Amino acid sequence: MFELKTTPILSVRDIEEYIFCPRLFYYRVFLSRESFQKFWKEAGRKFEAEQILIIKNKFTDEFTFIEPQVYESRKYRIRGKPDFILKHKKFKYYVVGDVKNSNRVKNEFVTTLAVYALLLEDCGVTPVKRALLVLQRRIEWINITDSLREKAKYYIKAAHKVVKSGKIPKGNWKNCRLCDFREYCHEKS
Ligand code: SF4
Repeated sequence: MFELKTTPILSVRDIEEYIFCPRLFYYRVFLSRESFQKFWKEAGRKFEAEQILIIKNKFTDEFTFIEPQVYESRKYRIRGKPDFILKHKKFKYYVVGDVKNSNRVKNEFVTTLAVYALLLEDCGVTPVKRALLVLQRRIEWINITDSLREKAKYYIKAAHKVVKSGKIPKGNWKNCRLCDFREYCHEKS
């Protein structure tokens, strides 16, 4: 059974960050978020908006486009707003979508979509059977399988555990070369 009682609400992007690197997540949670704002890239916002518009008009035969809102789950102690949601006109299931200014299907992208699926379902947007990952030059359909859901739950719990313990977790060193914090982080290590 999934039980989280005393930890604060985390954003889905926090969980995505944890999946990318637990230590990066720790920095963001325990050091002033504002002090790190400069690291967060604005680039990509325009790309996201363009892609969402394309998706809005692309699948109209099969799906209804639903404007997303901010959802909050008490059960998982997470909050977030996916980039878009589609509802299958005939079979009534939902698809959660995320746009990434990237060409690769990365672990954190796929698992984050499952985190969104859990969030939406806990808020009554159910069932979320599939996800759509919109990349720079292609789109990937992803099935929200039971094993993917379990993986998402694992990461949600693990991120909350770090918040509760306050202990600095190990870094995901293989992602250091992609990390905007590496200078800061490697100074501290
Ligand atoms: S530099 Fe590496 S270990 Fe440090 S936060 Fe970034 S990814 Fe994690």
